[in-house]
Amino acid sequence: MRIGIYILSLFLSLFTWSVPQYIEGQFIIKTKKGVSAKVLFNEVNSLFPDSRISKIGFSNIYLLDVSIPKGQKFSLEIILNKLRKLSYIEHVEPNFKLKALAVPNDTYYFYQWNLEKIQAPFAWNLTVGDKAILVAVIDTGIDIFHNDLNGNIWLNPNEICDDGKDNDANGYVDDCYGYNAVNDLGSAVDDNGHGTHVAGIIGAIGNNEIGISGINWKVSIVGCKFLNANGWGSLADEIECLNYIKTLKELGYNIVAINASYGGYYVSQIEKEVMSELGLLGILIIAAAGNDGVNVDQKPLSPCSYSVELPNVICVAATDEDDKLASFSNYGVNTVQVAAPGVNILSTYLDNSLEWMNGTSMAAPHVTGLAALVKSYKFSLSSNELKDLILRSVDNLTTLTNYISTGGRINLFKAMILADNVTDNTTNY
Ligand code: CA
Ligand code: CA
Repeated sequence: MRIGIYILSLFLSLFTWSVPQYIEGQFIIKTKKGVSAKVLFNEVNSLFPDSRISKIGFSNIYLLDVSIPKGQKFSLEIILNKLRKLSYIEHVEPNFKLKALAVPNDTYYFYQWNLEKIQAPFAWNLTVGDKAILVAVIDTGIDIFHNDLNGNIWLNPNEICDDGKDNDANGYVDDCYGYNAVNDLGSAVDDNGHGTHVAGIIGAIGNNEIGISGINWKVSIVGCKFLNANGWGSLADEIECLNYIKTLKELGYNIVAINASYGGYYVSQIEKEVMSELGLLGILIIAAAGNDGVNVDQKPLSPCSYSVELPNVICVAATDEDDKLASFSNYGVNTVQVAAPGVNILSTYLDNSLEWMNGTSMAAPHVTGLAALVKSYKFSLSSNELKDLILRSVDNLTTLTNYISTGGRINLFKAMILADNVTDNTTNY
């Protein structure tokens, strides 16, 4: 019985959210050219006596208050059809109710200061994401059955889970929900929590009345696990993950970006070249700047440091609630391009839980999430256009001026507005 009630209440909330609402009895009318208010008034009142008309602005657009004779009842459609038949009217529409901000109903959204800071609610008025957009999380894996993530985890449509075979012949056995490069087998299941936290920032299911909201309410997240239960992994396994994502992209899966919330103080020509190849395929790599409070211009941390040479790599520092560089965050005006929230970030964790975490690891997925959301808003954007949008739409902050190249923290809404102004017909790198 309780289950029945729950399903019903969920259904009702979805219903009221998705159906357009309007102010009863009010209509917006656009008249044909040269029609005066008096002519319109007379025509409307021949149908509905005692109706009122007021002009909106300077154009030939009016607000109509329809007066329905006592004892009569007309549906919205009947009134619209009657008005549409009038000779002086070009368009007539209900006076729709608009929501100022798309604020999701997720239980703990109240704590997600980071999403307000980057103006996510304004962006959500334009789009809340799309399952056709794929992003890769190369990390400790993802808790693929987390109740606030599961619907947004990519499922390989051509692989049968756990049968020990490479059903889709892509070179990876049982890569059902991404791939595990640590064991060279099966899905990217998380035994640490880090990757699950990162994935939730990008795409925890939004507006589903539980947990938190991701930057994308809807998206497809592909996990690849190369970090073990203790959060450590090898370059070889990471490169295996990069190759896995490359394989998927070449098979036609629409992967927009890879989130790389990891790194080390080394430089690898091989890793750099693999990442360069991913760039040629149109994939952005969003890397964390590291958490040691050092200048990575002087002490390169990879893969972040490849941003100096590779146009598809973006390196991300962390900021706090006051828009200050986090005390732990690495920086570097030549290497680090943007900042994003990375202190006291609430996101998904193992076994259907939520957890607060700090780090540039939390900042990078804000940028990855931004890339996915903007791409879902404008499919035609190339990866270099996307990168350009991310860098140009930041909020410039004096606190960041001498620390990162753009001197700014990302702004999701401003990126969407810029995306509107990009003309088509460009190519990827
Ligand atoms: Ca396979
Ligand atoms: Ca949620």
